[in-house]
Formats: sequence, structure tokens, C-alpha cells
Amino acid sequence: MAPVPVQVADSAVSSPFPQSPKTTGPPVDQTNFLSDRARTTEIDGIRGLLPLETPDVVSFLAGKPNPATFPFGSITLNLKPSISGRPAESITLDGADLDHALQYGPSAGLTSLRNWLTALQERVHKRTPGNWTVSLGSGSQDLMTKCFSAVLNPGDPILVETPVYSGVLPALRLLNADMIEVDVDDQGLSATRLAEILDSWPADKKKPRVIYSTPVGCNPSGCSASPQRKLDVLQVMQKHNLLMMEDDPYYYLTTPLIPSYFELETQVFPNAGHVVRFDSFSKLLSGGMRLGYATGPKEILHAIDVNTAGANLHTSALTQGIAGSLLQHWGQDGFLAHSEAVSAFYKERRDVFEAAAHKYLDGLATWVSPVAGMFLWIDMSPAGITDSYSLIRTEALAKGVLAVPGQSFYPSNRKSPHVRVSFSIIDLETKAPEGFARLAEAIKDKRKE
Ligand code: PMP
Repeated sequence: MAPVPVQVADSAVSSPFPQSPKTTGPPVDQTNFLSDRARTTEIDGIRGLLPLETPDVVSFLAGKPNPATFPFGSITLNLKPSISGRPAESITLDGADLDHALQYGPSAGLTSLRNWLTALQERVHKRTPGNWTVSLGSGSQDLMTKCFSAVLNPGDPILVETPVYSGVLPALRLLNADMIEVDVDDQGLSATRLAEILDSWPADKKKPRVIYSTPVGCNPSGCSASPQRKLDVLQVMQKHNLLMMEDDPYYYLTTPLIPSYFELETQVFPNAGHVVRFDSFSKLLSGGMRLGYATGPKEILHAIDVNTAGANLHTSALTQGIAGSLLQHWGQDGFLAHSEAVSAFYKERRDVFEAAAHKYLDGLATWVSPVAGMFLWIDMSPAGITDSYSLIRTEALAKGVLAVPGQSFYPSNRKSPHVRVSFSIIDLETKAPEGFARLAEAIKDKRKE
């Protein structure tokens, strides 16, 4: 299964942005995107030497604990019958794989898993080997936090689509980042709005070099960008020399897959190197594993690895070992078949959930039906609601229903007529209809005010 171009919404409209021919070129040096601190910080003396340890070298380097003292003899994973139709089966982690999983390892992640993921990215995103690499993190959240500090100086501007995944706000606030809100439309990040902001940027103000977006099944808006929309955004990025942080944890939750920014950048940038992609295993294998991977220019990934070395040495090698043995066992085709089954699972849930929402909210609210992700972003302005926060804290709470007020997804904390509701895990038969009935009552009560 390979990604195929799809029209996600009504994006077949002709693009106002000129299209460049597909180009390839020599590797580029993307250190110009690094923060001052990232340019001057290196992995410490011990970790910096670890890659030089080869079987021919006598190494007195590391303070690795002696595995003879570890209690684990082997680890057997008992897999239940999978949603892609595989029978129950067992995989045992032992030998060299277990040794690597139990020992301190490289900051970028276990070599075998990185190689597996590199081959996956080459296939799925149609990228040839080049000046890009893959690093593991404790969830994509961990990698994004480290990337923000690798590319932003304190106080720097960064363009963020709004509403934005609220999980990135604490890291950006810690950096005192100047978050420039770029409002989404029904395809997420708007190239037109982005161009307007950048074309009229004041000459005396530091210009943003980085943009953050969740292009598929956006959390919270549920929108997805079509390939054409991504090309339009890439054109604006080219004009203004931007780096994209592509946060794509829902990428595999739609079928067919939508070509990513990481794939499409090769059509716009002669040397690519303008997209750092963040993938997550949370929605495909387990959220509690805390495993994600970043893919992008070597210079930026190295700066992320330096941050990992300083913060936590590396992502749990045991978790990587477990995921790696499962992925080796499945192979790429097995992984893609699993992802497709997960996507079908959520699509079925979305359909039932949305039917319940229509039953109770039609006439009071609207939303864009999501092709991926786990959320409906419900706009209650047709009912005259302007501040969902006060609705949730008073009328909705009184009726016994909770949803996330839109305000939480704006760096400026602006009032919003939206609420985010999730269909990932809620009981669809009874709880979802009951919740929507209560929300409708709450909206009507608010209207009476
Ligand atoms: N980005 C988005 C848009 C998300 O919704 C989430 C999880 N809710 C994350 C990143 C974090 O993913 P992970 O579990 O891989 O850290």
C-alpha cells in the first residue's frame, strides 16, 4: 500500500500559487534554522565518543552496567488476534536484540529500529536516501519539544495554525515564543492566510523561520490538507524560506494515505530539507509505550539528539526493542495492513458518532467531517454561542456533559464558539447520544440567557 493523491475536501480549486517543476539537488546545510544554543551545543564527551566503539577497538569508555546483573532472560510478547486479521501469536525478544534493549543505547535510538523506520519512510513518503535521517523519541511530543528548542531562540516568532494542538503550547510558552496565529479553514492551514501574514510582515520585526502544523485529522479542528493545499503552503514556505514542523500522528488514520509535506517538499524545494516530520506510534501500537520518531534534515535531527542526550540520554531501549521486534515480525506490509485496519476502525466509529451528533445538534451547530483523527470540532455559532468556555463551565456542566472549550486551542486564549469532542473511546451506543442530547439542551439553555 503506497500513498495515493486524494482530494480531501473541495481543494480541486485552481491554485493561486505557481507550481514548480519537480527538482532534486545536492544535500543542503540547514544549520541556518538552528537556534543559537543548538549551534553551539554538542553531545558531551562520553556520548560523543560512543559511536567510535567498534569490535576492533578496546573501549574503556562507558559506565554501562554489566548485563550479567540484569534479571531478564528473555521477554515474550503474546499478541492477541490483530484487527488486521492476524491470529494470536508470540514473539520472543532474546539474544543480541534483548542485549540492546536492556543496555544504554544511542541518543537517536536503536540502530535496527532506525534502519527499519528509514526504509519505511523511503517507501511511504517516496524519498530517496539523502541529507535526512530518523530519530526516536519518547512520543512525538518529546521530539517536538526538543525540536522547538533546537530551532527557536527564546522570544522568537513561530507560525502556528490555529486552533492548534494544545499540547505544544507549554513547550512554546517555556521558550517565551511569539506565537503567530494562522487561522485554519476547512482544509486546515490556509496558504492564503499564511501568505498574507508573511507578505505584510513589518520590516523592523524579526521574521518567523518556522511553521507548525498538524496536516491530517488536525487536533482539534479535524481538518485535513489535500496534496494541492500542501503544495500551496510549500510555495509560500519557499518564498519566505520557512522550515515546517509537520506533526502527523494521525497520518495513518486515513485510507488512502494523503501525501505528506515530507513527500511533497521534493516538488517545491530543489534540495528538500525544509520539513521535519513527526510520526507517533501512540495511535497505532499504544499510547503508553511513549514512542514516536522524527524524520528530517540531519542538522536539525542532530540538534534534537543533542537535546535528548542532555535530557534523558535516550528513549527507553526496552520500549524500542519491543516495538522493533514487532515491526520486524510484521514487516512493512504487515505494519501498513495494521494501520489500514486501525484507520477503518476509527472511520466506522466516526460514522456512528457523527450520526448521533447530527440527530441532536443539526440546526444548532456545524462541523467539518474529519477524514482522519479522533475529533469533531463543533461550531456552535449557528445557535448564537460565542464563548464555549462559559457554556461548558456552567450550562453543560449542569446538564452533565463535558467537552474541551475551543479557547484551550488558541495561544491568545481568545473566546471561541467551538468545542472539541472525541470519538476514540466513548461508548457509541448510549453515552455518545446521551452526551449530544445534553449538549443540545445546554446550548438551548444558554440561548435563553
Ligand atoms: N500531536 C498531536 C496533534 C496529538 O494529538 C498528540 C497526542 N494527543 C501528539 C502530538 C502527541 O503524540 P505522542 O503520544 O506521540 O507524544
